[in-house]
Amino acid sequence: MSKNLTSRADDYSKWYNELVVKADLAENSAVRGCMVIKPYGYAIWEKMQAELDRMFKETGHQNAYFPLFVPKSLFEAEEKNAEGFAKECAVVTHYRLQNDPDNEGKLRVDPEAKLEEELVVRPTSEAIIWNTYKGWIQSYRDLPILINQWANVVRWEMRTRLFLRTAEFLWQEGHTAHATEAEALQEAEQMNNVYADFAENFMAIPVIKGVKTESERFAGAVETYCIEALMQDGKALQAGTSHFLGQNFAKAFDVKFTNNEGKLDHVWATSWGVSTRLVGALIMTHSDDKGLVLPPNLAPSQVVIVPIYKNDEQFDAITEKADSIIKELKEVGVSCKFDKRTTHRPGAKFAQHELQGVPLRIAIGPKDLENNTVELARRDTLTKEIVPIDGIATTIKDLLEVIQNDLFKKALDFRNEHITEVNDFEMFKKVLESKTGFISAHWDGTAETELKIKELTKATIRCIPMDNKQEEGTCVYSGKPSTQRVLFAKAY
Ligand code: AMP
Repeated sequence: MSKNLTSRADDYSKWYNELVVKADLAENSAVRGCMVIKPYGYAIWEKMQAELDRMFKETGHQNAYFPLFVPKSLFEAEEKNAEGFAKECAVVTHYRLQNDPDNEGKLRVDPEAKLEEELVVRPTSEAIIWNTYKGWIQSYRDLPILINQWANVVRWEMRTRLFLRTAEFLWQEGHTAHATEAEALQEAEQMNNVYADFAENFMAIPVIKGVKTESERFAGAVETYCIEALMQDGKALQAGTSHFLGQNFAKAFDVKFTNNEGKLDHVWATSWGVSTRLVGALIMTHSDDKGLVLPPNLAPSQVVIVPIYKNDEQFDAITEKADSIIKELKEVGVSCKFDKRTTHRPGAKFAQHELQGVPLRIAIGPKDLENNTVELARRDTLTKEIVPIDGIATTIKDLLEVIQNDLFKKALDFRNEHITEVNDFEMFKKVLESKTGFISAHWDGTAETELKIKELTKATIRCIPMDNKQEEGTCVYSGKPSTQRVLFAKAY
């Protein structure tokens, strides 16, 4: 097994990169900024997908699929959206390679095979989808359209980091069309709530629901709702976004419908997405210096059984016990793997499962066979106890629930301890240097102040929290009057 990880205290960023690779979640690829998601990392993403997909369907959405390429003329139709994404677009200009006559054995782009119209590799799919919706919507009877797509997108990011920010990433994008503004607003808020529910109750990551300021808003949106999480190094991470798009895309693509009063109106829109960034959020929220810590809901295997034996006879007896435990666990909906590899010693297996964050480890040795017990070890607390095999399925099921809740509670306490109310700019800078985390401060509501603060401190306004109370105050930077506090932080 590989050597120890760099500790979080020594170098948080290095710890993260090492953990992703050593826990076998993902690795860098031959393509700059694009990662290979390995089976263990992909299994975690699949857990997320399955639960989100269930939640989307429960709220009335259906899955569909749209093309990877967006003709440039469609891409530029909604100007703000196009302008916002233009700087990071990959563009297809040719459709064929040929042998290079000047460079034997090499290929070159066939100059004859130039596309008449360039194709943008989707950085997001509003354009192609709204161009399609135009053909689907004539009257209010065709609405709402509630569609989600699971896909990959490409944003030519300059500073990339495995999972958190990659040039190609996997995500889901919901795109809905509505007859009224109120309905679209309600949808955008609902999906932000679905994300918050998923983050907190499934991933055990506490989040703050809010809206973005104008400068942080999605290009082409009227309002961007978001969930913001706090990582263990005190940096914030945007974990999900849901946009109220107004009639911007309907106007750009001329999508009109006859309302129930017989009048023509533009359709109202939303879009919302979460990505493989959530795997990064998961790692940065819960994991420790020994490796990954997985909330039981996201663990590809919730329990692993490691046999400890000296001869075949002991191994057979342990296998029999293990098989019956696995069967019992399956009946109560708990996934369990029996690690009977003969190529690794128990110590190496322990280390690997610790590194990969398996929530519970069962060790069974000859003594346990005699006493009808097992050793049960928790990954999150690194504590061990001897428990009887009788009733083990219930013991484990209950303990997994405790672990899921404890992880959330721990992350919530950390997050709450790292929200500091600040009333003047000197303090603002001091807090950012020492404690990090979120700073709750008054802001005068202008983009100039927001930008100035960003230039001076690198902190951005992460969101205006949804549950903000109105409170008279003065802007932490300009001293101008303000009616509410907003949350600042340095962010990924
Ligand atoms: P957006 O369409 O910009 O609102 O982003 C939708 C979701 O994708 C948000 O949760 C973002 O945090 C996430 N996201 C944006 N850019 C990247 C990226 N380069 N890599 C991974 N996730 C991203």
